[in-house]
Amino acid sequence: MKNNINQNLDNSEVKNFDWNLIQSEMKNKLGLDIFESWLKKIDFIEEHHNYLLLSVPTRFIRDWITSRYLDQILQIIKLYKKDVTRVEFKIVDIKRNDYKSIFDKTKDNENISFIKDSYSLYSRIDPNKRFDNFVTGKSNKLAHQASLKVSEKISFYNPLFIYGGVGMGKTHLLNSIGLELKKDKKVMFISAERFMYQFVKSIKANDMVKFKEYFRNTDVLLIDDIQFMNGKEAMQEEFFHTFNALFDKGSQIIVSSDRPPNKLSRIQERIKSRFSGGLVIDIQKPDYDLRRKIIKTKTEEINTIFSDRINISDQIQEFISSEVKTNIRELVGALNRIISFSKIYNKVPSLTETKIILKDLLNLSENKVTIELIQSTVCKFFKISKNEMLSSRRSRYLVRPRQTAIYLAKILTSKSLPEIGRLFSNRDHTTIIHSIKTIEKLKENDSELSSNIENIKNQILYNNNKDNEIQC
Ligand code: ADP
Ligand code: MG
Repeated sequence: MKNNINQNLDNSEVKNFDWNLIQSEMKNKLGLDIFESWLKKIDFIEEHHNYLLLSVPTRFIRDWITSRYLDQILQIIKLYKKDVTRVEFKIVDIKRNDYKSIFDKTKDNENISFIKDSYSLYSRIDPNKRFDNFVTGKSNKLAHQASLKVSEKISFYNPLFIYGGVGMGKTHLLNSIGLELKKDKKVMFISAERFMYQFVKSIKANDMVKFKEYFRNTDVLLIDDIQFMNGKEAMQEEFFHTFNALFDKGSQIIVSSDRPPNKLSRIQERIKSRFSGGLVIDIQKPDYDLRRKIIKTKTEEINTIFSDRINISDQIQEFISSEVKTNIRELVGALNRIISFSKIYNKVPSLTETKIILKDLLNLSENKVTIELIQSTVCKFFKISKNEMLSSRRSRYLVRPRQTAIYLAKILTSKSLPEIGRLFSNRDHTTIIHSIKTIEKLKENDSELSSNIENIKNQILYNNNKDNEIQC
């Protein structure tokens, strides 16, 4: 009887609730563009009985997601956790990489990726990642040329090993090679994780003969993200033999990785030395010229797809190219956000709006927001003096500005309530809480106050003026 109950409990929901699964599902259901531009930024914080607490990097992203995708996200979550009736967002206003590590409780990235990959729909070759839409510059020219070369003349460089950081275009290049060669050859394009998954599955199913046949019977083997290969000896053994068998029969092998062969951990020396035996080439970070060229090309590409042109000014294009430097994926994601904004609001965002839309991707002055700056901006706005703001006088014309400044100190800085209290003439933290609550409440019904606060906030963050606010 007891067992039965347990079984029922177990069956009532997927046992291991995993945010990565939900992300994969969001990617499948809402599309890669929307996922990369907006939803990827959502992180899981904690799970309560009937709701999930999630984090997003900015208010703008939260509002955007809530107004457009929340229903679909909730539906997806319900597939895995049917008790969940709502989700709540917390704005975690620090760079993604930092908070990723804070909330990443398992810290077991390889394992997560493995699970993720094994559940996600595995798409082999993407028709949208071709040579003709791969933009070249100093940092990726050699990798591009080598890729073209193996596509023309198989085994010219064998193996071809391309490495570089995340979002640099490795998968795009491997995919382009696959697309070219599959016209008249047998091509297999697989991630290292998927290779491991298939391997384990075949062993369990006692089906190794099929596995061997499957992999050794190809003219071209493209293996993406080899750094995730961390399998047991038996698997590496199998990989090594597959590699040799293919190599001996003149099949082309192309490998991508986030690091050079000699830096790969958990991979046998002899495999590494095989990788080093062909052409090893890296893709470096894109410089400004390449970023500018990519933005220009993508903007034009988009304008050929949609009937109503989106005229993203040179100024905005240059701004994105000069500010989003991390990698090409982020750069393309930034452009996609501008485009979704333009389509929905029927206007291209201004520079200030662009800054708000892309805030989490930019290294702008966010950290420079100090309580002093907040106080002086609020004082200037309400035309009161700083002494008046910090005094204990309770005249109405001083109380609201004071409360507004306290409220902004809370939302725009990471200072604690007692710290804020100290910087407002040693006010008690209960007074600080009262001020914040008062403003939050007033904001709901008082549209003038609400717009004043937005205006001041923009001035603080972007040295902005009223005309440039985003009304959405
Ligand atoms: P990686 O595999 O190195 O992490 P991807 O190949 O997935 O990176 O590239 C990330 C995104 O950037 C993809 O959408 C890809 O099409 C795009 N991209 C990368 N490099 C280029 C390039 N040189 N030209 C055009 N698009 C690119
Ligand atoms: Mg990749």
